[in-house]
Amino acid sequence: MFKLSTESQQQSFQYQLLNWFHLHKRSLPWRDDYIPYHVWISEIMGQQTQMERVADYFLRWIDRFPSVASVAAAPERDILKVWEGLGYYSRARNIQKTAQLLMEEYLGEVPASHKDLLSLPGIGPYTAAAILSIGFNQPWPLLDANVERVFSRLADIDKPLKLKDTRKELENMADELLYHKDPRNWNQALMEFGALVCTPKKPTCSLCPVHSFCLACKRDTVDWRPVPRKKKAIIEITMACGILCRDNLFFIQQRLDDDIWGGLWEFPGGRLLENESPEQAVIREVAEETEWQVINPVPFQSVVHHYTRYRVTLHSFWCQLPQTPMQPVLHAATDAAWVTLQELSEYPYPAGHRNLVQLLQKQ
Ligand code: SF4
Repeated sequence: MFKLSTESQQQSFQYQLLNWFHLHKRSLPWRDDYIPYHVWISEIMGQQTQMERVADYFLRWIDRFPSVASVAAAPERDILKVWEGLGYYSRARNIQKTAQLLMEEYLGEVPASHKDLLSLPGIGPYTAAAILSIGFNQPWPLLDANVERVFSRLADIDKPLKLKDTRKELENMADELLYHKDPRNWNQALMEFGALVCTPKKPTCSLCPVHSFCLACKRDTVDWRPVPRKKKAIIEITMACGILCRDNLFFIQQRLDDDIWGGLWEFPGGRLLENESPEQAVIREVAEETEWQVINPVPFQSVVHHYTRYRVTLHSFWCQLPQTPMQPVLHAATDAAWVTLQELSEYPYPAGHRNLVQLLQKQ
């Protein structure tokens, strides 16, 4: 167990890290004023996403939704459009549900209570602690992936971080090292240090402000800390979709609410069945989803994107629509629209379909 044996050692450790943070921290837009609404949005956006990318999305979000009230009142399509590309769209929907609750029950303010925060959609123990410590400067320890890595090296933890005992050890470290006089900067200092110096690969130990406290560095085990996890195999998925165009209008439909891309828009289509060609799949899928029998699919573009463990190849086809009614019978969508090439940009899409829209508009 990592322990700083005297109070002065602990103070020295905290001082070195805070000093480093004040000199080297990145300029991030929510660090200008630490408004709790801004901190909340940045924390939700920061889950699974790198900070530089979050900063761009954050600025667009605050420009479009400057207050909790504006989030609560916005059409869901606008919320998803600003979020488009960040993934995990339930996070955006939960932000709106929470904003509506804040308007109804908290006069549009983010509450400064752990219990109240935990009762809100999409806010778990980590996010509640982050909002309280960074937004309100309350003494809550934070353990994200960066901090876990830093601690695993400082304490030279030789067990996987997922184990219950190891988790407890990390939590104890976070509690004991917390700098109560300035939790906002302390927590950010640890996370920033992990992101910029004590990085997953090739940490810059020669420039490390807490080098003298690091057990992994003393024992020359830095390259094995944290203990590496087994890599999960990539799962390949192949899909096909139909681009239906009539009178210069394109057909798109809105996905059902019950999956991770629920509420987003797409061209009709789906996964290939075993031994099915993409051409066969697109004819079957369009028929199943709309009751339209398309003919003569002609390849347009194939795009590839990665989603967690999945590598998704999406084949798209121009499909001819025989004389059928303009309105389909929807079996896999809540809504549908015929829109111009320009209007396609106004809708939020999952990654593969967004790529297709961009390729169509470049033609
Ligand atoms: Fe991380 Fe290296 Fe510093 Fe240890 S010495 S805390 S491994 S950067």
